[in-house]
Amino acid sequence: MQTMRAVQVARPNGPLELVEREIPQPKAGWVRVKVQACGVCHSDSLVKEGLWPGLQYPRVPGHEIVGTVDAVGAGVTWWKPGQRVGIGWHGGHCGQCDACRAGDFFGCQVALQITGIAFDGGYAEYLVAPAVALALVPEELSAIAAAPLMCAGITTYNALRNAGARAGDLVAILGLGGLGHLGVQYAVKMGFKTVGIARGAEKESLARKLGSHHYIDSRAQNPAEELQRLGGAKVILATVTNGDAMSAAHGGLGLNGTLVVIGAAESLKVSPALLIAGRRSVKGWYSGTAADSQDTLRFSVLTGVRSFNEVYPLEKAVEAYDRMMSGKARFRVVLEMPSPAANA
Ligand SMILES: [Zn+2]
Ligand SMILES: [Zn+2]
Repeated sequence: MQTMRAVQVARPNGPLELVEREIPQPKAGWVRVKVQACGVCHSDSLVKEGLWPGLQYPRVPGHEIVGTVDAVGAGVTWWKPGQRVGIGWHGGHCGQCDACRAGDFFGCQVALQITGIAFDGGYAEYLVAPAVALALVPEELSAIAAAPLMCAGITTYNALRNAGARAGDLVAILGLGGLGHLGVQYAVKMGFKTVGIARGAEKESLARKLGSHHYIDSRAQNPAEELQRLGGAKVILATVTNGDAMSAAHGGLGLNGTLVVIGAAESLKVSPALLIAGRRSVKGWYSGTAADSQDTLRFSVLTGVRSFNEVYPLEKAVEAYDRMMSGKARFRVVLEMPSPAANA
């Protein structure tokens, strides 16, 4: 029996534990990937803390995965061993239900599969995943550079490109953390007049370094008033998980402007009068599929958008996870897999 190292959660609220497991075999339609790097995302806490209804334990978390195709199951013709691939949050769909036939794979009613939740994820030396979940990783990107783009990257990139803003429009990025620091870079590279919004004057230099044309310190200034002074935002991308911060900013939307929510806040207050009078809207955005991930990676190569990362070896997954949860990481935490000769 060939074994690998993996970091699993054995029960809700159980610890992350390093275990030896059998290397999984890919079934029909699935692919085995030898993991090179896996980002640590806040959504991994859904597994750790038992917040996902019906989740089967033990489970290996991780949905910001980059590695090489190691073996393919029956019927897989597109992917070949040796190709470098990424796997993100969207791990699979049925392709046959009404939502899938309409192209809304994120709404699959039959077999929506979330990586690291429906099947074991990337806190491991190997994983198996549905072939449909794989995105090709350009060779210009290292595994460490590509991994955070598989969730934080695609989420901000895909939300922005589908938000309705056109080149030159005013776009605000609310929050300058793991998502926001990518959001600002993407917004700038997409040609938007970009406003970074965060708490504290000390964040301005970061916002400027990321390319932001304007900065609003939401502690000292009223973000809605400041955005209106700049002409009103076509889009506000809310990357924070604080509903009050979103509520405070939404008054900065211009006519036909949209507040795009990607931070999972508990609740949020909006002014109906403001929505009605300016035909403004509030909407959410789901990260995207493997095809969207490929677009994200290619755009990042084209424009030089990169995540700032703190890297830990797999065996320090507990430390890495705690660092991510502390909110102090600058800005994404990534697990790196060693490539011991035994597994080569
Ligand atoms: Zn994620
Ligand atoms: Zn479906």
